[in-house]
Amino acid sequence: MSRRVPLPTAGAFTDQPRGFDLLSLPGLRRFLRWRYARLVFQIPLLVLAIFVIVDGLAGRQLAPRNVATTASWLHYRGLVVVALALIGNAFCAACPLMLTRGPANAVKRLLGRERRWPSWLRSKWLVIVLLAAILVSYEAFGLWASPWLTAWIVIAYFVGAFAIDVLFPAGTFCRYVCPLGNFNFAFASVSPTQIAAVDPEVCRSCEEKPCLHGRETYADPARARGEFAHVEPSRVVAFNGEGRFPGCETRLMVPTMTGSMDCTSCFNCVRACPYDNVGLVVRSPAREATTDAWRRRWGLPAVLLGVLLLWWGLLNAVQMVPPFFDAAAWLSSTLGIGREATLLALIFAAVTALGTAVSFAVSVAADRIGGKRTSPGRALLRWGYVHLVLAFGFWAAHYLFHFLTGAVSIVPVFQHFFEWRGFDVTPNWRLARLVPSAALFPLTAGIASAYALVAAWVAIRIAARDFGRRAALAMWPMLLFVVALAVAQVLILSLPMEMRGTILGPTS
Ligand code: SF4
Ligand code: SF4
Repeated sequence: MSRRVPLPTAGAFTDQPRGFDLLSLPGLRRFLRWRYARLVFQIPLLVLAIFVIVDGLAGRQLAPRNVATTASWLHYRGLVVVALALIGNAFCAACPLMLTRGPANAVKRLLGRERRWPSWLRSKWLVIVLLAAILVSYEAFGLWASPWLTAWIVIAYFVGAFAIDVLFPAGTFCRYVCPLGNFNFAFASVSPTQIAAVDPEVCRSCEEKPCLHGRETYADPARARGEFAHVEPSRVVAFNGEGRFPGCETRLMVPTMTGSMDCTSCFNCVRACPYDNVGLVVRSPAREATTDAWRRRWGLPAVLLGVLLLWWGLLNAVQMVPPFFDAAAWLSSTLGIGREATLLALIFAAVTALGTAVSFAVSVAADRIGGKRTSPGRALLRWGYVHLVLAFGFWAAHYLFHFLTGAVSIVPVFQHFFEWRGFDVTPNWRLARLVPSAALFPLTAGIASAYALVAAWVAIRIAARDFGRRAALAMWPMLLFVVALAVAQVLILSLPMEMRGTILGPTS
């Protein structure tokens, strides 16, 4: 195939990881360049979502025996963190909500108008508010115990994604609204892979930047709709057919990507790039956190999201251990608050405020000791990544705890789905755990500790990057913070935890 070399584009691209390109594994690049590749991952999750809705609304309202609660709160969350730790944001790649995009586009064409997402909402603030609302509701309304409510959340998600897609540009929901997607985006920053340009020089001479803007390719250019730039078939290296190839809906341009924030792993860029120049490269899980990757595009709200995920992760787990029940009972009688939802919302607000204050204080202390008199916001922007890594370690340990206690229960839960509807199936309720109880604490504490070590490494690297000869001083507040948090995390994991969503009682 011949390749036209357009005019060079001015400006330097970002420094990207140069590790092994997973797309060079046999057949993988070819598969992902196929226009229906994403559908292969989405269809199974769509089928699962249908099971969740049907069983949640019309099945037995007993959490450990219902597909809605088991699949959503046990399996989905456990597998999300496994995927993030081992490969990347796999669940956004398979997101069935995006299957509403076709119908949404049709309605959009009928309406004939697309609105602009308000500029004041173009940040992560709304995501932070929605994530907080979900976490408070999860406890206050016992979402994990209600198949019916879980099903309605899934329905609301589909309706919300569809409505926002009808009214606003594609990608708006993922980037500015979806709390689950942004949970994945934030934690994909510690994943060992990232989308990157294989050869930045090719990007430099790529005129249309189809990875961002999309392309249309037809032997007969008259067939093109004119929505994207037309690229003749002769220019497409590793030709992947005629048609429209949309670019990145969350507005990322591959050679300028500093990390995985906002990347839904949709692989549109892989399909759209005419030069087959997009890779999924292996990198250190600490790389994004040590390169100030979010500063230019996302700034403080994104880093604050990572910081809040640390405190919310701790609270989320603490709410399942016995000392919390005693403390909540004491607080309830002391403050005279009888309504559980009010009390939980109050505790959530207090932890959010106190935790954020501690994070600001430690960040400012590190900057001051390092000789920088920066603002609290700038200090948190520097050190927030340390919190993010700590946060991922703890969410991963916590979610894995629940997942491992009930992973195999998905088999009898599905058997029960059919038994409940009159089929001749006998669920085998003895299927539940994936690992023995005795292995749970060492495993989960090991995961939290391993990520605490990564967080400590991130703190050291940030200090070395920004503080020169005073690095050895600047890193200490953060290192002490990491040690304190790691001890707290292991302590929480050592306590008996409510076995939510399983048929078992508390373990010790
Ligand atoms: S990744 Fe492909 S489409 Fe994007 S700028 Fe580089 S060569 Fe062009
Ligand atoms: S098109 Fe954008 S969101 Fe999709 S994989 Fe590429 S960079 Fe990520």
